[in-house]
Amino acid sequence: MRILVTDGMDKTAMAELKAQGHEVVEQFYESEELGKALRGFDVVVVRSKTKVRAPHIDEAKGSNLKLIIRGGVGVDNIDVKYAEENGIMVRNTPNASSQSVAECALAHMFACARFISIAGAAMRNDIWDKKAYSKGIELQGKTLGIIGFGRIGAHLGVMAKAIGMNVIAFDIFHIPGIEERLGIPYVEMDELLAKSDFISVHAPAVDGGALINAERIAKMKDGVVIINTSRGTNVDEAALLAALESGKVRAAGLDVYADEPATNKALYSHPMVSCTPHIGAATNEAQKRIGAEIVDIIKAM
Ligand code: NAD
Repeated sequence: MRILVTDGMDKTAMAELKAQGHEVVEQFYESEELGKALRGFDVVVVRSKTKVRAPHIDEAKGSNLKLIIRGGVGVDNIDVKYAEENGIMVRNTPNASSQSVAECALAHMFACARFISIAGAAMRNDIWDKKAYSKGIELQGKTLGIIGFGRIGAHLGVMAKAIGMNVIAFDIFHIPGIEERLGIPYVEMDELLAKSDFISVHAPAVDGGALINAERIAKMKDGVVIINTSRGTNVDEAALLAALESGKVRAAGLDVYADEPATNKALYSHPMVSCTPHIGAATNEAQKRIGAEIVDIIKAM
């Protein structure tokens, strides 16, 4: 088969596909050129940069294209329903990066607790200010509320318990047996908001407004820490910034933003924000696992 890889892929996986006799072309296409390019391939592998929308699918209709693979979790960069209505399958690699994203969320929790991000930035500017960064808090003994208790949420919950946190979770869907297996109970949203010292969001991009908005922030403990490594639109950025300014929210750890690249400088440069540029899944280990999952998907065709 002819396989187009637009946003990069693990080299071992690429070599394996070639060894299996596939022709693999690594090339990024701007949106205007993508639809036409897709006509020449059986499979296209994208990450998040390439957006495969209805007009691209229209252009590719009637060609050999039969599979779009998203190396990663969220498929919001692909018009999945439209592709499938037109006979093109869409697959993702949902498990490969869960641990990496969970570790990114945990890293932001530590950074928020101990001023890691801002203290490091200050030292780079030759500022040695022990006093400013001496009011850290421990994670041990604190309550972590996980909103969206799926793959990534569960990985984070297990690690948080290992460092002595109490963990509670809210999800619209309850997985039978998971509470007993992980020792993490499901609670209602209001209970999670009222009890948590740290709140980490791990739901997909939800329709109908942000999961974390001004009304929900008002129900949280004073000094709560909010972490978002899910999708930027899950947190109302204006409400978060206002709560950081007022001190209601102690700190926030953000990997995802309403606009990407992020444009809300007042938020991402706030002293109590620990920020990363959507790199939650970007580890060597996750990329290898994503590559291996892609090879398996293509093998199974
Ligand atoms: P998952 O499908 O395993 O889990 C998501 C959970 O959220 C599910 O249990 C689902 O029932 C729940 N959910 C859905 N709507 C909800 C709502 N309104 N309120 C509460 N819970 C709700 O997904 P996952 O693999 O754990 O991924 C979670 C999120 O992480 C997704 O948004 C994904 O796009 C994002 N993600 C980010 C990165 C990154 O680089 N930062 C990488 C991978 C995934």
